[in-house]
Amino acid sequence: MKIHPHKKNIKAILFAALIGLTILFTASTIQKNSVAHAANSTIKWANFDVPTSAMQDALKADINTHTSANPVHFVDSLAYLAAKYSGNWKQYKNADLSAFTQKRKNGESIENLTQNLKGYIYYNQVYTAALGNAVGEYATGAGNQYTENYGLKLSCPIAAGYGYSHYDDFGNSRSFGFARRHLGNDIMGTVGTPVCAVEGGYIEELGWNKYGGWRIGIRSFDKKRYYYYAHLRKGHPFQTGLVKNEAVGSGEVIGYLGMTGYSDKEDINGMQKPHLHFGMQLIFDDAPRESNNELWIDVYHIVDFLAQNRSQVSKNGKDYHSVKDLLDMRYLLYYD
Ligand SMILES: [Zn+2]
Repeated sequence: MKIHPHKKNIKAILFAALIGLTILFTASTIQKNSVAHAANSTIKWANFDVPTSAMQDALKADINTHTSANPVHFVDSLAYLAAKYSGNWKQYKNADLSAFTQKRKNGESIENLTQNLKGYIYYNQVYTAALGNAVGEYATGAGNQYTENYGLKLSCPIAAGYGYSHYDDFGNSRSFGFARRHLGNDIMGTVGTPVCAVEGGYIEELGWNKYGGWRIGIRSFDKKRYYYYAHLRKGHPFQTGLVKNEAVGSGEVIGYLGMTGYSDKEDINGMQKPHLHFGMQLIFDDAPRESNNELWIDVYHIVDFLAQNRSQVSKNGKDYHSVKDLLDMRYLLYYD
């Protein structure tokens, strides 16, 4: 299949209804796997402790069954397993997913398989909010040559060929400005490492913030997720040509790893070590982001899961560009 991309004329078609469940977190449903913000009762952040191996296995099951009569969707598998384990992912065994897949193959419905599993609907809502657009149809290529594919549509925030390290630092305390929690994952690397968009979306924030330094905020096309990339490089933080409110695709270079931030003054290196602060926020309605109806999740395992999809980049002048585009077939339709 050939697709003719027109990057500046990206038309995002929102299938909000597909994943537009309004999720109301009540104290009773959320307490199992999240911790309330210290300052008030609004839930501001939550543990997302699905192991990388479970996401990997669920991805394989989805890819293997997506054309069959009884597909085993990525999010359904994760929700089934979380409900089966009552949220305790330490119990995860691949055999449980295989058994679930086999029952689906034999024609058992999701409804039957989950009817006695308390929490299935809750976990399905949470995982849909976080990863509801992670797996599906996409096309990769460049120029006029694109190939359609099915699988993981999200990209690693660090371009291919660049070393990085990280650990689960979500929720650690931070004290610059005011006492608060660390709402993301610090990915250590070298200054100038190309940073790629994890999911496609619209650039919502682009510029200086006294905490994040040079930072970019991208809201997914379905508006359910907000991605935050901070502490970008002093001097040349962003990919040339990025404009607020314009669209970027998964795997596109958006900026460069650095150590800016913690300063009212712009373009100051306030970090002790170069790193990308990567954060992901779930948004539970269409209200403005600062309306408190939002939740930062722990992306540590997600970053590991995304290591399989690293964008190849090449240098052109001051900037790096992804060698191939990754077009999300659900949201982007390109026509000449
Ligand atoms: Zn950080």
